[in-house]
Amino acid sequence: MIDQILTYNKQFVASKAYQPYVTDKYPEKKLAVLTCMDTRLTELLPKALGLRNGDAKIIKNAGGLVLSEKDSAIRSLLVAIYELGVKEVMVVHHSTCGACHMSYEAFKPHMLERGISAETLADWESSKDVAAWLEGFHDTEASVRKTVAAIVNHPLVPKDLVVRGFIIDSVTGALTEIR
Ligand code: ZN
Repeated sequence: MIDQILTYNKQFVASKAYQPYVTDKYPEKKLAVLTCMDTRLTELLPKALGLRNGDAKIIKNAGGLVLSEKDSAIRSLLVAIYELGVKEVMVVHHSTCGACHMSYEAFKPHMLERGISAETLADWESSKDVAAWLEGFHDTEASVRKTVAAIVNHPLVPKDLVVRGFIIDSVTGALTEIR
């Protein structure tokens, strides 16, 4: 698949198909969106929000979560706020998210099958709390509220940042605000 992508990429550049997307690094709408890496959202989310290239910083991970005060989503948000002028943040989780019901117990047999040793897993279970780290969030609305709170209450996030939480329908793109 990657080789096919490389072939396509040569044609893309050679035909100057990039021209409609030329912009700078500063988000036009001073907006950041924290959302899920789900492939259903790849095109749907920016289209449903009316976002074009250059409009917003889109930060993605499994679920669109903030897991700790030093995790990569917060780090990216701080860059967006202090380096790139972001004033508003949308936390956008989505319907039927894969990260909702995931669990370490379900991953474990696959990890063993793919060559991760039982000793390594035992070590991660006892010293790194891997089960909690890979646990799903189970309740999407509660997860949106928790993520918004983690951003709003972060000691390095300025109080004038606007942070609002939403669930997007993975099929229709409809946004529902979670208050
Ligand atoms: Zn998801």
